[in-house]
Amino acid sequence: MSDAIRFEDKVVIVTGAGGGLGRAHALLFARHGAKVVVNDLGGSAQGEGANASAADRVVEEIRQAGGTAVANHDSVTEGDKIVQHALDSFGRIDVVVNNAGILRDKTFHKMEDADWDLVYRVHVEGAYKVTRAAWPHMREQGYGRVIFTASTSGIYGNFGQSNYGMAKLGLYGLTRTLALEGRKNNILVNAIAPTGGTRMTEGLIPPQVFEQLKPELVSPLVVFLASEQCQETSGLFEVGGGWMGKVRWERSLGAGFDPKAGFDAEDVADHWQQICNFDNAAHPADNMEALKEMMANLQKYAG
Ligand code: NAD
Repeated sequence: MSDAIRFEDKVVIVTGAGGGLGRAHALLFARHGAKVVVNDLGGSAQGEGANASAADRVVEEIRQAGGTAVANHDSVTEGDKIVQHALDSFGRIDVVVNNAGILRDKTFHKMEDADWDLVYRVHVEGAYKVTRAAWPHMREQGYGRVIFTASTSGIYGNFGQSNYGMAKLGLYGLTRTLALEGRKNNILVNAIAPTGGTRMTEGLIPPQVFEQLKPELVSPLVVFLASEQCQETSGLFEVGGGWMGKVRWERSLGAGFDPKAGFDAEDVADHWQQICNFDNAAHPADNMEALKEMMANLQKYAG
Protein backbone atom coordinates (compact mmCIF):
# COMPACT_ATOMS: atom_id res chain seq x y z
CA MET A 1 0.00 0.00 0.00
CA SER A 2 1.28 3.50 -0.84
CA ASP A 3 2.02 6.06 1.85
CA ALA A 4 -1.02 7.87 3.18
CA ILE A 5 -2.01 10.82 1.03
CA ARG A 6 -2.40 13.84 3.28
CA PHE A 7 -3.05 17.52 2.67
CA GLU A 8 -2.26 19.08 6.05
CA ASP A 9 -1.32 22.77 5.44
CA LYS A 10 -2.54 22.51 1.86
CA VAL A 11 -5.38 24.65 0.56
CA VAL A 12 -7.72 23.33 -2.09
CA ILE A 13 -10.35 25.17 -4.13
CA VAL A 14 -13.11 23.00 -5.56
CA THR A 15 -15.41 24.99 -7.85
CA GLY A 16 -19.04 23.99 -8.18
CA ALA A 17 -18.71 22.00 -4.95
CA GLY A 18 -22.24 22.64 -3.66
CA GLY A 19 -23.50 19.38 -5.16
CA GLY A 20 -22.75 16.42 -7.43
CA LEU A 21 -19.12 15.57 -8.17
CA GLY A 22 -17.68 18.75 -6.67
CA ARG A 23 -19.31 18.08 -3.30
CA ALA A 24 -17.86 14.56 -3.27
CA HIS A 25 -14.38 15.93 -4.12
CA ALA A 26 -14.60 18.58 -1.37
CA LEU A 27 -15.68 16.04 1.28
CA LEU A 28 -12.84 13.67 0.36
CA PHE A 29 -10.20 16.43 0.33
CA ALA A 30 -11.36 17.46 3.81
CA ARG A 31 -11.10 13.84 4.99
CA HIS A 32 -7.50 13.86 3.74
CA GLY A 33 -6.76 16.90 5.91
CA ALA A 34 -7.00 19.71 3.34
CA LYS A 35 -8.36 23.16 4.04
CA VAL A 36 -11.11 23.42 1.46
CA VAL A 37 -12.70 26.39 -0.27
CA VAL A 38 -16.15 25.14 -1.26
CA ASN A 39 -17.16 27.36 -4.17
CA ASP A 40 -20.64 27.29 -5.66
CA LEU A 41 -22.84 29.91 -7.26
CA GLY A 42 -25.85 27.71 -6.52
CA GLY A 43 -27.81 28.24 -9.74
CA SER A 44 -29.79 25.75 -11.80
CA ALA A 45 -28.22 23.07 -14.00
CA GLN A 46 -28.82 25.47 -16.92
CA GLY A 47 -26.92 28.26 -15.19
CA GLU A 48 -29.88 30.36 -14.03
CA GLY A 49 -30.11 32.05 -10.64
CA ALA A 50 -27.88 31.83 -7.57
CA ASN A 51 -28.22 30.44 -4.06
CA ALA A 52 -25.69 30.51 -1.24
CA SER A 53 -27.14 27.49 0.55
CA ALA A 54 -25.54 24.86 -1.73
CA ALA A 55 -21.95 25.74 -0.73
CA ASP A 56 -22.96 26.50 2.87
CA ARG A 57 -24.47 23.04 3.33
CA VAL A 58 -21.31 21.28 2.15
CA VAL A 59 -19.14 23.42 4.43
CA GLU A 60 -21.42 22.45 7.32
CA GLU A 61 -21.06 18.76 6.42
CA ILE A 62 -17.27 19.08 6.35
CA ARG A 63 -17.14 20.92 9.68
CA GLN A 64 -19.46 18.42 11.35
CA ALA A 65 -17.10 15.66 10.26
CA GLY A 66 -14.22 17.56 11.89
CA GLY A 67 -12.77 19.06 8.70
CA THR A 68 -11.85 22.62 7.71
CA ALA A 69 -13.69 24.50 4.99
CA VAL A 70 -15.05 27.89 4.00
CA ALA A 71 -17.84 28.67 1.57
CA ASN A 72 -17.50 30.93 -1.45
CA HIS A 73 -20.47 31.99 -3.56
CA ASP A 74 -18.81 33.80 -6.47
CA SER A 75 -19.21 32.69 -10.04
CA VAL A 76 -16.12 31.03 -11.49
CA THR A 77 -16.20 33.78 -14.11
CA GLU A 78 -14.90 35.94 -11.26
CA GLY A 79 -12.18 33.45 -10.40
CA ASP A 80 -9.85 36.05 -8.90
CA LYS A 81 -12.37 36.60 -6.08
CA ILE A 82 -12.42 32.86 -5.29
CA VAL A 83 -8.62 32.71 -5.12
CA GLN A 84 -8.56 35.87 -2.99
CA HIS A 85 -11.05 34.21 -0.65
CA ALA A 86 -8.68 31.22 -0.30
CA LEU A 87 -5.76 33.55 0.44
CA ASP A 88 -7.76 35.63 2.94
CA SER A 89 -9.07 32.51 4.71
CA PHE A 90 -6.03 30.26 4.71
CA GLY A 91 -3.04 32.28 3.41
CA ARG A 92 -2.20 30.13 0.39
CA ILE A 93 -3.53 28.12 -2.54
CA ASP A 94 -2.10 24.74 -3.55
CA VAL A 95 -4.76 22.94 -5.57
CA VAL A 96 -7.46 24.09 -7.97
CA VAL A 97 -10.13 21.61 -9.03
CA ASN A 98 -12.07 23.22 -11.88
CA ASN A 99 -15.37 21.39 -11.63
CA ALA A 100 -18.19 23.96 -11.93
CA GLY A 101 -20.38 23.39 -14.94
CA ILE A 102 -23.75 23.82 -16.59
CA LEU A 103 -25.58 22.43 -19.59
CA ARG A 104 -27.43 24.17 -22.42
CA ASP A 105 -28.12 21.18 -24.65
CA LYS A 106 -29.49 21.92 -28.12
CA THR A 107 -28.87 20.52 -31.56
CA PHE A 108 -26.55 22.77 -33.53
CA HIS A 109 -29.23 24.07 -35.87
CA LYS A 110 -31.22 25.31 -32.85
CA MET A 111 -28.17 26.64 -30.99
CA GLU A 112 -28.49 30.25 -29.96
CA ASP A 113 -25.58 32.55 -29.22
CA ALA A 114 -26.67 32.79 -25.56
CA ASP A 115 -26.41 28.97 -25.11
CA TRP A 116 -23.04 28.85 -26.81
CA ASP A 117 -21.67 31.83 -24.85
CA LEU A 118 -22.86 30.78 -21.40
CA VAL A 119 -21.45 27.27 -21.71
CA TYR A 120 -18.16 28.73 -22.90
CA ARG A 121 -18.14 31.31 -20.11
CA VAL A 122 -18.77 28.92 -17.21
CA HIS A 123 -16.59 26.01 -18.33
CA VAL A 124 -13.73 27.62 -20.22
CA GLU A 125 -13.53 31.23 -19.10
CA GLY A 126 -14.44 30.21 -15.53
CA ALA A 127 -11.68 27.58 -15.36
CA TYR A 128 -9.27 30.07 -16.96
CA LYS A 129 -10.09 32.82 -14.44
CA VAL A 130 -9.69 30.66 -11.34
CA THR A 131 -6.52 28.98 -12.61
CA ARG A 132 -5.03 32.24 -13.89
CA ALA A 133 -5.49 33.87 -10.49
CA ALA A 134 -3.94 30.90 -8.63
CA TRP A 135 -1.03 30.41 -11.08
CA PRO A 136 1.39 33.12 -9.79
CA HIS A 137 1.03 31.83 -6.22
CA MET A 138 1.73 28.28 -7.34
CA ARG A 139 4.78 29.40 -9.32
CA GLU A 140 6.14 31.37 -6.40
CA GLN A 141 5.79 28.52 -3.91
CA GLY A 142 7.10 25.92 -6.39
CA TYR A 143 4.04 23.73 -5.92
CA GLY A 144 0.67 23.45 -7.54
CA ARG A 145 -1.83 20.94 -8.79
CA VAL A 146 -4.61 21.82 -11.25
CA ILE A 147 -7.37 19.49 -12.36
CA PHE A 148 -9.73 20.36 -15.19
CA THR A 149 -13.04 18.59 -15.72
CA ALA A 150 -13.44 17.54 -19.33
CA SER A 151 -16.06 15.13 -20.66
CA THR A 152 -16.49 12.17 -22.95
CA SER A 153 -18.88 14.49 -24.83
CA GLY A 154 -15.79 16.50 -25.79
CA ILE A 155 -13.59 13.50 -26.50
CA TYR A 156 -16.09 11.52 -28.55
CA GLY A 157 -18.89 14.01 -29.32
CA ASN A 158 -22.48 13.77 -28.12
CA PHE A 159 -25.68 14.61 -29.96
CA GLY A 160 -27.04 17.98 -28.84
CA GLN A 161 -23.87 19.03 -27.02
CA SER A 162 -21.83 20.99 -29.55
CA ASN A 163 -21.36 23.90 -27.12
CA TYR A 164 -20.52 21.62 -24.19
CA GLY A 165 -18.24 19.35 -26.25
CA MET A 166 -16.35 22.40 -27.54
CA ALA A 167 -15.84 23.69 -24.01
CA LYS A 168 -14.85 20.35 -22.52
CA LEU A 169 -12.24 19.44 -25.11
CA GLY A 170 -11.00 23.04 -25.00
CA LEU A 171 -10.14 22.42 -21.36
CA TYR A 172 -7.97 19.49 -22.38
CA GLY A 173 -6.11 21.74 -24.84
CA LEU A 174 -5.53 24.11 -21.94
CA THR A 175 -4.34 21.19 -19.80
CA ARG A 176 -1.68 20.17 -22.33
CA THR A 177 -0.08 23.61 -22.57
CA LEU A 178 -0.32 24.47 -18.86
CA ALA A 179 1.36 21.13 -18.11
CA LEU A 180 4.32 22.22 -20.26
CA GLU A 181 4.47 25.71 -18.76
CA GLY A 182 3.94 24.58 -15.15
CA ARG A 183 6.40 21.72 -15.00
CA LYS A 184 9.54 23.66 -14.03
CA ASN A 185 7.69 25.16 -11.04
CA ASN A 186 6.28 21.79 -9.98
CA ILE A 187 2.78 22.69 -11.12
CA LEU A 188 1.19 19.53 -12.50
CA VAL A 189 -1.95 19.76 -14.60
CA ASN A 190 -4.35 16.96 -15.55
CA ALA A 191 -7.89 16.53 -16.83
CA ILE A 192 -10.63 14.07 -15.98
CA ALA A 193 -13.64 13.03 -18.01
CA PRO A 194 -15.97 11.80 -15.26
CA THR A 195 -19.27 9.97 -15.29
CA GLY A 196 -21.46 10.31 -12.21
CA GLY A 197 -25.09 10.19 -11.18
CA THR A 198 -25.78 13.88 -10.50
CA ARG A 199 -28.54 16.35 -11.34
CA MET A 200 -26.68 16.91 -14.63
CA THR A 201 -27.16 13.30 -15.72
CA GLU A 202 -30.48 12.55 -13.99
CA GLY A 203 -33.00 11.37 -16.56
CA LEU A 204 -30.24 10.74 -19.13
CA ILE A 205 -28.85 7.59 -17.50
CA PRO A 206 -31.16 4.63 -16.71
CA PRO A 207 -32.15 4.86 -12.98
CA GLN A 208 -30.44 1.60 -11.92
CA VAL A 209 -27.13 2.62 -13.48
CA PHE A 210 -27.55 6.20 -12.20
CA GLU A 211 -27.75 4.86 -8.63
CA GLN A 212 -24.53 2.92 -9.10
CA LEU A 213 -22.55 5.80 -10.61
CA LYS A 214 -22.00 7.47 -7.26
CA PRO A 215 -20.14 10.79 -7.50
CA GLU A 216 -17.79 9.75 -4.70
CA LEU A 217 -16.39 7.01 -6.96
CA VAL A 218 -14.72 9.76 -9.05
CA SER A 219 -13.11 11.66 -6.16
CA PRO A 220 -10.19 9.33 -5.20
CA LEU A 221 -8.61 9.94 -8.63
CA VAL A 222 -8.99 13.70 -8.19
CA VAL A 223 -7.44 13.60 -4.73
CA PHE A 224 -4.55 11.48 -6.01
CA LEU A 225 -3.92 13.84 -8.96
CA ALA A 226 -3.84 16.74 -6.49
CA SER A 227 -1.35 15.08 -4.14
CA GLU A 228 2.40 15.48 -3.67
CA GLN A 229 2.77 11.78 -4.47
CA CYS A 230 1.38 12.28 -7.97
CA GLN A 231 3.97 13.04 -10.64
CA GLU A 232 1.56 12.68 -13.56
CA THR A 233 1.02 15.74 -15.73
CA SER A 234 -0.74 16.45 -19.03
CA GLY A 235 -2.94 13.38 -18.59
CA LEU A 236 -6.58 12.78 -19.46
CA PHE A 237 -8.48 10.15 -17.49
CA GLU A 238 -11.94 8.71 -17.96
CA VAL A 239 -13.39 7.80 -14.58
CA GLY A 240 -16.66 6.61 -13.08
CA GLY A 241 -18.46 3.70 -11.41
CA GLY A 242 -15.28 2.57 -9.67
CA TRP A 243 -13.28 2.34 -12.92
CA MET A 244 -10.64 4.68 -14.34
CA GLY A 245 -8.31 4.65 -17.34
CA LYS A 246 -5.96 6.95 -19.24
CA VAL A 247 -6.70 8.36 -22.69
CA ARG A 248 -4.00 9.18 -25.26
CA TRP A 249 -3.84 10.29 -28.86
CA GLU A 250 -3.32 7.68 -31.50
CA ARG A 251 -2.35 8.58 -35.06
CA SER A 252 -1.93 6.33 -38.06
CA LEU A 253 1.51 6.14 -39.66
CA GLY A 254 -0.18 7.76 -42.62
CA ALA A 255 0.87 8.10 -46.25
CA GLY A 256 3.65 10.26 -47.67
CA PHE A 257 3.75 11.91 -51.10
CA ASP A 258 6.58 13.61 -52.99
CA PRO A 259 6.09 17.32 -52.20
CA LYS A 260 8.07 18.39 -55.26
CA ALA A 261 6.48 16.07 -57.79
CA GLY A 262 3.08 17.19 -56.49
CA PHE A 263 -0.01 15.12 -55.80
CA ASP A 264 -3.71 15.60 -56.13
CA ALA A 265 -7.02 14.76 -54.48
CA GLU A 266 -7.14 11.51 -56.47
CA ASP A 267 -3.80 10.46 -54.97
CA VAL A 268 -5.30 11.09 -51.53
CA ALA A 269 -8.33 8.96 -52.51
CA ASP A 270 -6.06 6.17 -53.76
CA HIS A 271 -4.19 6.09 -50.43
CA TRP A 272 -7.22 6.56 -48.18
CA GLN A 273 -6.98 3.11 -46.59
CA GLN A 274 -3.31 3.66 -45.75
CA ILE A 275 -4.01 7.15 -44.35
CA CYS A 276 -6.64 5.68 -42.04
CA ASN A 277 -4.84 2.43 -41.16
CA PHE A 278 -4.00 2.21 -37.47
CA ASP A 279 -1.66 -0.81 -37.71
CA ASN A 280 1.57 0.09 -35.90
CA ALA A 281 0.04 3.47 -35.06
CA ALA A 282 2.04 6.24 -33.38
CA HIS A 283 1.18 7.78 -30.01
CA PRO A 284 2.86 11.18 -30.12
CA ALA A 285 3.37 12.60 -26.65
CA ASP A 286 4.34 16.10 -27.78
CA ASN A 287 4.62 18.40 -30.79
CA MET A 288 8.13 17.23 -31.69
CA GLU A 289 7.08 13.59 -31.73
CA ALA A 290 3.97 14.51 -33.70
CA LEU A 291 6.10 16.08 -36.45
CA LYS A 292 8.41 13.05 -36.84
CA GLU A 293 6.63 11.36 -39.77
CA MET A 294 6.15 14.66 -41.58
CA MET A 295 9.85 15.49 -41.28
CA ALA A 296 10.80 11.96 -42.38
CA ASN A 297 8.68 12.45 -45.50
CA LEU A 298 10.44 15.73 -46.34
CA GLN A 299 13.80 14.03 -45.86
CA LYS A 300 12.80 11.04 -47.98
CA TYR A 301 12.12 13.27 -50.98
CA ALA A 302 14.84 15.90 -50.30
CA GLY A 303 17.69 16.55 -52.74
P1 NAD B 1 -23.86 19.43 -10.91
O1 NAD B 1 -24.84 20.28 -11.63
O2 NAD B 1 -24.35 18.59 -9.79
O3 NAD B 1 -22.66 20.30 -10.35
C1 NAD B 1 -22.16 21.44 -10.98
C2 NAD B 1 -22.04 22.52 -9.94
O4 NAD B 1 -21.44 23.68 -10.53
C3 NAD B 1 -23.40 22.95 -9.39
O5 NAD B 1 -23.41 22.82 -7.98
C4 NAD B 1 -23.52 24.39 -9.84
O6 NAD B 1 -24.23 25.22 -8.92
C5 NAD B 1 -22.07 24.81 -9.99
N1 NAD B 1 -21.91 25.96 -10.89
C6 NAD B 1 -22.49 26.14 -12.09
N2 NAD B 1 -22.12 27.32 -12.62
C7 NAD B 1 -21.28 27.89 -11.73
C8 NAD B 1 -20.54 29.10 -11.72
N3 NAD B 1 -20.62 29.99 -12.73
N4 NAD B 1 -19.74 29.37 -10.67
C9 NAD B 1 -19.65 28.50 -9.63
N5 NAD B 1 -20.35 27.34 -9.58
C10 NAD B 1 -21.14 27.03 -10.62
O7 NAD B 1 -23.19 18.52 -12.02
P2 NAD B 1 -21.96 17.46 -11.94
O8 NAD B 1 -22.37 16.31 -12.76
O9 NAD B 1 -21.52 17.27 -10.55
O10 NAD B 1 -20.84 18.25 -12.77
C11 NAD B 1 -19.57 18.57 -12.28
C12 NAD B 1 -18.61 18.72 -13.45
O11 NAD B 1 -18.42 17.46 -14.08
C13 NAD B 1 -19.11 19.66 -14.54
O12 NAD B 1 -18.02 20.40 -15.06
C14 NAD B 1 -19.64 18.72 -15.59
O13 NAD B 1 -19.65 19.31 -16.86
C15 NAD B 1 -18.65 17.58 -15.47
N6 NAD B 1 -19.11 16.32 -16.01
C16 NAD B 1 -20.05 15.59 -15.35
C17 NAD B 1 -20.45 14.37 -15.89
C18 NAD B 1 -21.41 13.50 -15.17
O14 NAD B 1 -21.60 12.34 -15.60
N7 NAD B 1 -22.04 13.94 -14.09
C19 NAD B 1 -19.91 13.92 -17.10
C20 NAD B 1 -18.95 14.68 -17.74
C21 NAD B 1 -18.54 15.88 -17.17
